[in-house]
Amino acid sequence: MDTKAFTRTLKKSENYNRKGFGHAEEVAVVIESAYQSNLIPKIRENNYTLQQGDVTIKLAKAFGFCWGVERSVVMAYETRKHFPTAQIWITYQLIHNPSVNQDLRDLQINFIPMMNGKKDFSVVGNNDVVILPAFGASIQEMQMLKEKSCTIVDATCPWVSKVWNAVEKHKKKKITSIIHGKYSHAETIATSSFADKYLIVLNNLQAEYVCNYILNSGNRDEFMAKFKGAYSEGFDPDQDLEQVGIANQTTMMKSETEEIGKLFERTMSKKYGPDKLNEHYQNLNTICDATQERQDAMAGLFNQKLDIMLVIGGFNSSNTTHLHEMAIESGIPSYHIDSDSRILSGNRIEHKPLGCEVEISEGWLHKTPVVIGVTSGASTPDKVVEDTIHKILAMKSGR
Ligand code: SF4
Repeated sequence: MDTKAFTRTLKKSENYNRKGFGHAEEVAVVIESAYQSNLIPKIRENNYTLQQGDVTIKLAKAFGFCWGVERSVVMAYETRKHFPTAQIWITYQLIHNPSVNQDLRDLQINFIPMMNGKKDFSVVGNNDVVILPAFGASIQEMQMLKEKSCTIVDATCPWVSKVWNAVEKHKKKKITSIIHGKYSHAETIATSSFADKYLIVLNNLQAEYVCNYILNSGNRDEFMAKFKGAYSEGFDPDQDLEQVGIANQTTMMKSETEEIGKLFERTMSKKYGPDKLNEHYQNLNTICDATQERQDAMAGLFNQKLDIMLVIGGFNSSNTTHLHEMAIESGIPSYHIDSDSRILSGNRIEHKPLGCEVEISEGWLHKTPVVIGVTSGASTPDKVVEDTIHKILAMKSGR
């Protein structure tokens, strides 16, 4: 499919909107009262520190809503305002935050339901309004919505579109896109739908395996089994790894994406010689600034003496999980929660350990005095962070 020609036509269509409907100012007032915090700016002004009694809160210098997420929330609210009676759908959770998604449900903005592990688009009627979330939608979904004459409100973050453009460039040069991401993540599914040939690698370990295969060849069957579900149809590791370009899911660990890029660069240079590198390797910088800033700010927090780290964000949020990973690597006891409701009475916390199901830990706030580092993922409103801080302070003061 000529994805470029399709998106060009789609963007010219009168049923397509990616700029909003002119209600941004009215909507901003509603959003501010729902998601903004009065406390957070005060903490920021106080060198990102709040001290009350025996509790010191240290906030990361960058955290929470990124502009891509905020923009998508504004567009969703604007869409409801502009189409007050229309049936409105979102192809997936608008962002990975349960409270924001519930607010949208309350506005009768519905999510496409899942049926046997797949999205059931049969619920979408002709001429319904459909919002594409911040992390985008696959080209096949867009095509189907266009065929149904739906009004498409495209809230895809421009940083995500930038990755799609990189993948389009790989395709034009007939090179294989190596996508650093999770093959089942909505953003990576969307990104790979723009590629012709692609291979998705989850981490350094998988990238090393692929590079080793490029240099020394290996067991083809083992390769195909290892990457099942993570490559394009007809992909052949013996033929399709001669020219590669790097792309990424925007919320992966920035340092890992960079390492993977360098690993492939070294590999291609070794295999084909430095003078032929440009023919075999391409890397356009597609790392999102917001992800980078939040990860850098998290690293900055570790320069301070923290007793506990609290990472707030949706349990299925990739960027929040990476922040949690960083905290674990630093050796600080860390808890990933998605709202203040996870702070339970009796000094208990309901949290999600990395790679495990949600569980309750007791006595998590045992130390006095205590210094708690706090950060939140790119889809977490400041209000959720504020509510969590209030709850901890109330608990510690015995209120
Ligand atoms: S994290 Fe980056 S790519 Fe993702 S929505 Fe935010 S700004 Fe966009």
